[in-house]
Amino acid sequence: MIRSIKLFCLILCFPIFVQGCGDDLPDDLIAYTNATIWTGTDQPSIENAALLIRNGTVFDVVPMTELDLPDTVEEIDMSDRYIIPGLINAHGHVGIARGLETGPSIHSEQNVLDQLQLYARYGITTVVSLGDEPPEAFTVRDNYNPGDHGTARLFMSGPVLSPSSPQAAFEDVSELMQHNPDWTKIRVDDNLGRSQKMSPEVYRAVIEASHEHEIPLAAHIVALEDAKGLLEANVDLIAHSVRDEPADSELIDMMLERDICITPTLTREISVFIYSERPDFFDDPFFLRYADSDVIDQLQEPEVKQRYTGTTADYYREALPLAKENMMALHNAGIRVILGTDSGPPARFQGYFEHLEMEMMQEAGMIPGEILLSATRYAAECMLIDDRVGTLVPDKHADFIVLTENPFSDIQNLRSIEAVYIGGNQVEM
Ligand SMILES: [Zn+2]
Repeated sequence: MIRSIKLFCLILCFPIFVQGCGDDLPDDLIAYTNATIWTGTDQPSIENAALLIRNGTVFDVVPMTELDLPDTVEEIDMSDRYIIPGLINAHGHVGIARGLETGPSIHSEQNVLDQLQLYARYGITTVVSLGDEPPEAFTVRDNYNPGDHGTARLFMSGPVLSPSSPQAAFEDVSELMQHNPDWTKIRVDDNLGRSQKMSPEVYRAVIEASHEHEIPLAAHIVALEDAKGLLEANVDLIAHSVRDEPADSELIDMMLERDICITPTLTREISVFIYSERPDFFDDPFFLRYADSDVIDQLQEPEVKQRYTGTTADYYREALPLAKENMMALHNAGIRVILGTDSGPPARFQGYFEHLEMEMMQEAGMIPGEILLSATRYAAECMLIDDRVGTLVPDKHADFIVLTENPFSDIQNLRSIEAVYIGGNQVEM
């Protein structure tokens, strides 16, 4: 913006308004100075730059050499720090569990707020909650300003739709619209043969109904054939990795043609079996920082550990390498793989699992710069919220995180998180 004002002035102002035009910055800015800033755009990180914030939104990012701040501007020195856009979890869930408990007895606005705060403390400044949130989550979304409460921004789908007929699909979607969902969500999965899978006839109707209301639809899948059927029916997001067969060129072509993204949710697979033994991360200080020790103890009780064994646990443990391979096949083909974890149900730890997911993406072969895009700009674009979040460009929310280590050299450096800002306000850590 600074550059464009200068250019504008060179062309237009100089002969007419020699003074008072151009470099005068508003005096109600807050300036985070001397930082290395990555805006989430295609522009590489700018060393020694300032992030200028005004009224909770980004005003500009400028090299220090071009900065001439009015004396009244509040300046916060960020020397030796890295500033990047706040991270986006494109597939989480809020308010559906508290510890290992689920059900209406734990539903409350406070529980939703606590979980959004937890996400925020880990640098996840936006969460798209894809399904089964209690009604209280809509209340939180509509009535609490994330910047004021230090909570992640919430976008959500409401109840996962499971109509039994095309007619019911139109009715269910229509009823859901009273809550003004950001997305709709369906599951196309027979739970390893234990339930009836939604038929193509029905999911086509749900997608059509959703699109009539101009709401995008995300689909839970396991199988390659279901992913293809849903793409054929114009689904807007594939919400998990394909886990039954290798991703083939037909799937890749369909996703590319339609420009459809995927959330791999690798940590979801982990959560199904990992508690049969004591997971290593129970000793990770980054996890323990906010973990509830009662939940850790409960997860080590023999009868609880037992729940993480058996056919379902075995299936997803064995499917995990394929899920990673398929993620890489899609990524290498140019499909946007975006950060999504399915965190929020019991023992899928919000905030921490997003970091674990990004570390698994790195282990699988994505490089840090690609993962950072997948967790910021790409996630915002794919979830259709890029007019508000995802990059640090003028007029977007001032949602950003401050790190002491360079995340481009290793994605684990996201753990060096020192401060998180939402709408320009610092989140209490
Ligand atoms: Zn989910």
